[in-house]
Amino acid sequence: MESWTDIRSMNMEELTAAVEAAGEKKFRAKQIYGWLHQKLIRSGDEMKNVPAACREKILREHPLYGVTEVERYVSKIDGTSKFLFELYDGNIIESVLMKYKHGNSVCISSQAGCRMGCRFCASTLLGLSRNLYPSEMLDQIYAIQRATGERVSHIVVMGTGEPFDNFEALCRMIEMLTDEQGLHISRRNITVSTCGLVPKIYEFADRYPQVTLAISLHAPNDVMRRELMPVANRYAMKELMEAADYYVEKTGRRITFEYSLVKDVNDQKEHAEMLSALVKGLNCHINLIPVNPVKEREYRQSEQNHIQAFQHILEKHHIQVTVRREMGRDISAACGQLRKGYKERSGNG
Ligand code: SF4
Repeated sequence: MESWTDIRSMNMEELTAAVEAAGEKKFRAKQIYGWLHQKLIRSGDEMKNVPAACREKILREHPLYGVTEVERYVSKIDGTSKFLFELYDGNIIESVLMKYKHGNSVCISSQAGCRMGCRFCASTLLGLSRNLYPSEMLDQIYAIQRATGERVSHIVVMGTGEPFDNFEALCRMIEMLTDEQGLHISRRNITVSTCGLVPKIYEFADRYPQVTLAISLHAPNDVMRRELMPVANRYAMKELMEAADYYVEKTGRRITFEYSLVKDVNDQKEHAEMLSALVKGLNCHINLIPVNPVKEREYRQSEQNHIQAFQHILEKHHIQVTVRREMGRDISAACGQLRKGYKERSGNG
């Protein structure tokens, strides 16, 4: 089991142990936890009812890490905001705030970069820099809530990185986010998206049956999936679908499949038929995503009539399907592109 020593990644038990190890009274842990996870402070000085000497002693051993906003883009079309955040070591990550009728939803990154190598994705072009700490995942949400003054009610772990490649930090983040001594967000309002690390799908279904799972499928068969997603060389489609079945059976919840439509690659009618056969009988929802062009790659977005034809075939087979609305279309592009653009402009590595 991984453990973290930065103060915002520590759970109440660990924080209590740290407070006692510093020779302080146990109740200080609860106060500090409240400042960190309910009042969402940015620096130790803000913990008004904790004596300075106590704060300093604990923070010396357990630094307070967070994210610092470096750029923000707000869509004039739909109010979607994309944030570029800097981490304590200079790494850059991005997060997105989307405003819906049902509340504010934040899409967070789980890693700085990604090593999964999906062919249509800008986040992986520079490889994986490092895993994020639980605190750095949480603080993307906290920073957005601080910046906007509005409550965040829904979380999607679908930004840069493969969350199941940083599994224990993801679990810690979920536990702290849903804790009644923190923001107390409902587990049902959290969605985690994976490119398909099969063993972790089983583990996740067992540990967090209330959390929604989305699998990036992007292809209806092994051959095509291997071309688009190197992870498909590790886990065959059959294994992936068995894991999806397990999730649905274990949790009683619907599973989501993400399917990016790439022009002339996976957007033909026969692909829609194959996809229908693949998910037949499974309680699922398919989210069709017109792929965002990445300038370093040759992939292009499917044409509107192809998208519609694809959708109609799935509907004909009684499969629940939606075409993802493009949020913040005017403020740049695919996940990972802002971060990459910023790094190129600033020489920041
Ligand atoms: S799509 Fe997700 S898993 Fe695949 S390379 Fe991009 S960030 Fe990584």
